[in-house]
Amino acid sequence: MSKIRISNGEQFPVEMHKVRIVQKLNLIPIEKRLKAIIDAGCNTFLLRNRDVFLDMLTDSGVNAMSDRQLSSMLLADDSYAGSETFYKLEDSIKYIFEKTFFLPAHQGRACEHIISKVFVKKGSIVPMNYHFTTTKAHITTLLGKVLEIPIPEAYDINSSHLFKGNMDAKKLREAFIEHKDNIPFVRMEAGTNLIGGQPFSLSNIKEIYSICRENNVPLVLDASLLSDNLYFIKKREKEYQNFSILDITREISKNTDIVYFSARKLSSARGGGICTNNESFYKTMRELVPLYEGFLTYGGMSVREMEAMAVGLIDTMDETVISQGPEFIEYMTAELLKNGVPCVTPAGGLGCHLDANRFVSHIKELEFRAASLAVAIYIVSGIRGMERGTLSEQRDENGNEVISDMELVRLAMPRRVFTMSQIKYAIDRITWLYENKELIGGIKWDEEPKTLRFFYGRLKPVNDWPNRLLEKFKKDFKDSL
Ligand SMILES: *Cc1c(COP(=O)(O)O)cnc(C)c1O
Repeated sequence: MSKIRISNGEQFPVEMHKVRIVQKLNLIPIEKRLKAIIDAGCNTFLLRNRDVFLDMLTDSGVNAMSDRQLSSMLLADDSYAGSETFYKLEDSIKYIFEKTFFLPAHQGRACEHIISKVFVKKGSIVPMNYHFTTTKAHITTLLGKVLEIPIPEAYDINSSHLFKGNMDAKKLREAFIEHKDNIPFVRMEAGTNLIGGQPFSLSNIKEIYSICRENNVPLVLDASLLSDNLYFIKKREKEYQNFSILDITREISKNTDIVYFSARKLSSARGGGICTNNESFYKTMRELVPLYEGFLTYGGMSVREMEAMAVGLIDTMDETVISQGPEFIEYMTAELLKNGVPCVTPAGGLGCHLDANRFVSHIKELEFRAASLAVAIYIVSGIRGMERGTLSEQRDENGNEVISDMELVRLAMPRRVFTMSQIKYAIDRITWLYENKELIGGIKWDEEPKTLRFFYGRLKPVNDWPNRLLEKFKKDFKDSL
């Protein structure tokens, strides 16, 4: 993506790709949207795609694929064992991460499952810059604990800190003193998913790695959202401005012991994998791959997707490819801020993040501000976002709700999927909603699952606020969808 300056001096991101395959979208009338979200238990995960206009739920498995990726899929070598496709993928991994040993797994959480099974036991403490839902679930299922030690700015919704995903080195040193023998590994997450797609800096991961070395504990990198993080290092970290994206990738990888990723994000395909230069880690983790995933040369993945991963990882090294997401997000965030809408700043990767605590501060915390806002956004726009707040947390040991550090609605920007006019539509509808925010009310549990409840839990509005919102919309937008 290139920032183009137009004749009046204005600058905006222009797509450095063209669309060659399209999918028709539906924008159903607001009455039907209201019914659809109520039928979906006020949970955007439970909406049917045919009822969704712009699907900003996630970037997972829905990034646009390149012509190079699609054509490679036709060459996939379908064999149970020894597929050539596996070796191509292994070569891509070796090329970008410079790691010798590669284990395929069907998606990011499958990698987390394997890593957790090998390293985590009862009483283990895993320090990390921030948790991700599936990571935490795997660690706590094995009776381990997550210790989040980001820098304090991570929790500051409006900060000018350029690397809010950094880990606090001092706190890591303290953790090693306090929990010495109970730390099986330290985890760094690129592009911290739950706190607004915020990156870590290369100098930070270097420092964290050296502390891990001193303590002889491995550093594990969750590289699922690496592409945005790479872009931010290149743009924001002066020391590395002259490094290529490939150089930055290798430099990060050099400062880790194990790298794993969800290929539903990194590489714009579907799958996952773990790589390392440590033969003993490799051999221990390898035991679990045939048991849970599949034979070592496919790991539960379709070989077509593996071909797409092999190419997608190389595509990721192209700055014009990985800049599209962050630049569109920056544009959308800047426009919303101009209109007074509270967003997480600085704009990060992954998506535009709305601060529900300020957007709908009149809603009670236990009536799920972010989840209620996501319902309202869908009703007024057909846009599907995702709650990232209290509802995405797990209850504590005593069954009490845990109020999340942040209460966000994420409007994900799957890479190279949306056009500028669609983004302008989103900005307009969200701005209108902000101007009418008093009409938004809370939601409450109807059916609450025990684990990862946000995926399929069902809720309902606390009163008939959705109807009042609909009426105001009809009054203001007349016959517009
Ligand atoms: C999505 C994600 C995962 C899990 O990956 P899946 O492929 O969805 O299982 C793990 N970590 C991070 C940071 C992610 O964004």
